[in-house]
Amino acid sequence: MDITDVETVQVQVDLDEPLGVSRGRETDIRSAAFVVVETDAGITGIGEGVGPEPYIVERIVEGKYAPRLIGEDPLDVERLWGAMLTDDLYWDRKGQGVAAASGVDIALWDIAGKYHEEPVYRLLGGDADGSGRLEAYASDLFWDDPDVMADRAAGYVDRGFSAVKTHLGRGVDADEERVAAIRDAIGDAALMVDMNCGYDRADALRVGRMLEEYDVYWYEEPLSPYDVDGLATLRGKLDVPIATGENEYTKWGFRELFEADAVDYAMPDTMRCGGITEEKKVCTLAEAFDVVCSPHCFTTGVGLAATMHVMAASPATKWLEFDTTDFPLFDALFTSSLAVEDGLVSLPEDPGLGVELDGSVVDEYRVE
Ligand SMILES: [Mg+2]
Repeated sequence: MDITDVETVQVQVDLDEPLGVSRGRETDIRSAAFVVVETDAGITGIGEGVGPEPYIVERIVEGKYAPRLIGEDPLDVERLWGAMLTDDLYWDRKGQGVAAASGVDIALWDIAGKYHEEPVYRLLGGDADGSGRLEAYASDLFWDDPDVMADRAAGYVDRGFSAVKTHLGRGVDADEERVAAIRDAIGDAALMVDMNCGYDRADALRVGRMLEEYDVYWYEEPLSPYDVDGLATLRGKLDVPIATGENEYTKWGFRELFEADAVDYAMPDTMRCGGITEEKKVCTLAEAFDVVCSPHCFTTGVGLAATMHVMAASPATKWLEFDTTDFPLFDALFTSSLAVEDGLVSLPEDPGLGVELDGSVVDEYRVE
């Protein structure tokens, strides 16, 4: 089997209301870049790269990687990963090149699953806990008035989720108003808090002390991803566990976080950190450092599927990030409808990732 073509499909969804996070930042669009790998066996693989703008994924995938991939055997996933990321004289160690390669890698695993007529998680080692399901948390609550956020949080718990994540990071008083309201609304459910790199060291400590009072499950990205030492110091001072990793890349990047004792919940993003190939290795590395992996995943159904297959086959993972914002390119992309019950999401069982672009809602949001 040979690769015959590698293309990208760009989509953009205009949101009815903006998604607000720390430091006053918000967005009113969500865009994505799918990678489509064709073969001479009639098998098509779908992947997704997250991080750079979709047009950048297109330039890197179609301009740089496609010429290296066409004519190659798509089942040689490790070799092709190296051809994209480690064979050059000057390496693309972090950032957009790795994100774009992630999309290709995911598509190659989709091809492998379809070729072997197995869901991808079974090629990665099978269902590690044997349950056929992953426990999910509701993602996410975005910045709004405290009562609005609390109502939404309660709605997620009513839908059966036992954990809810919220974005904060606009000062200790404003954050506390919202944490208090949400905690009041969700009772004993787990509450994760995400600062999206919103604080400096001093404020991160002040806010962390406040979060301890509300039994917060994890404190996500309180600091800049560059400040690994600061994160390790903060972790040593606080009782609330630290989560980080959506801005980190490859097993080598995560090794730095683990060696620094900077993280309790590692959050590699499959669509950014190097694809399924690399995500599996990061999960294994985390296991060796006794760190729990809770992969970052806030994107389309293609990314969700890739994340689910890796998590299913990786023993040291916990909490599937599950988009509860009614994003139209989420569960609609699965070839068999996604079963979600009491916050548990059943593993996709169709060959490959179990997603498709053709005949779905993708055309409605496609950017030509
Ligand atoms: Mg986050």
